[in-house]
Amino acid sequence: MQVYGLLGNPVGHSLSPPMHEAAYDELDIDARYVTFEPDDVGDAVAGARALGIRGLNVTIPFKETVLDHVEPDDLATRIGAVNTVDLCGEPTGHNTDAEGVRRSFEHHDVDLAGQDAVVVGAGGAARAAAFALADADATVHVANRTVERAESLAADVPEATAGGLDGVQGDVADADVLVNATSVGMEEDRSPVPADALHGDLAVLDAVYRPVETRLLRDAGERGATTIDGAWMLLYQGVAAFELWTGRSAPVERMDAALRRRL
Ligand code: NAP
Repeated sequence: MQVYGLLGNPVGHSLSPPMHEAAYDELDIDARYVTFEPDDVGDAVAGARALGIRGLNVTIPFKETVLDHVEPDDLATRIGAVNTVDLCGEPTGHNTDAEGVRRSFEHHDVDLAGQDAVVVGAGGAARAAAFALADADATVHVANRTVERAESLAADVPEATAGGLDGVQGDVADADVLVNATSVGMEEDRSPVPADALHGDLAVLDAVYRPVETRLLRDAGERGATTIDGAWMLLYQGVAAFELWTGRSAPVERMDAALRRRL
């Protein structure tokens, strides 16, 4: 039997086990997906490798510190975070959160090339989103509560600009694409962007997936924008990890159904 897993803390409410195990069921792969809350991520990677575990996802608080224990690919190096480790051979580190962002827009027929994008937030999800958008030839503006963090992220992303949240209304009014990569809206009815700034020419991705329909997405939908909920990003980061580990096409619809049933 193959074993895959997730390193993080806490991981008790993770949706990755049912999502990945639905894919194993669909494709008749004899595998399990297990969650772990290790004290030391380096020990965990070495132990997993010794035990023959094939692949690991990595989440808070280990996404950055795991970089010291794997060979990161170019994208993970630029983002500065790893969420997927391939343990077939020497451990390699990848960032499929960025792929999750890219494929979420692709699924909704949003062509990012040449678009003006605003990323709200400057943490891990924002870094993945900003690089995904820039790599797809969008122009990125980072808006964050702590302006210094926005500036630091924008300095790493080609042609990106930075600002605070006070200017976000004007930034969004002129934009084609908006990503909320803050935790604002998670299990609360709040939005990081004033409703008046939203318009029908926007495509809006909210990384928050609890609730699936956030205040931001509701406001954006009411103004005719294309709305993409955070479950798409979660799905496609998992799809990308599955495909990396197994070399097979993921059963996307089955994984999506398993995920959404639990949201
Ligand atoms: P993080 O690294 O802790 O970053 C949090 C971000 O939210 C920072 O930019 C922070 O601003 C901002 N923020 C927090 N509270 C705020 C407030 N009250 N007002 C304005 N800004 C606020 O977290 P993360 O890992 O990037 O995750 C961010 C969100 O994305 C979470 O909700 C997470 O669940 C979600 N996420 C979803 C996926 C997915 O697959 N759908 C993947 C990863 C993350 P400061 O810099 O000023 O503190």
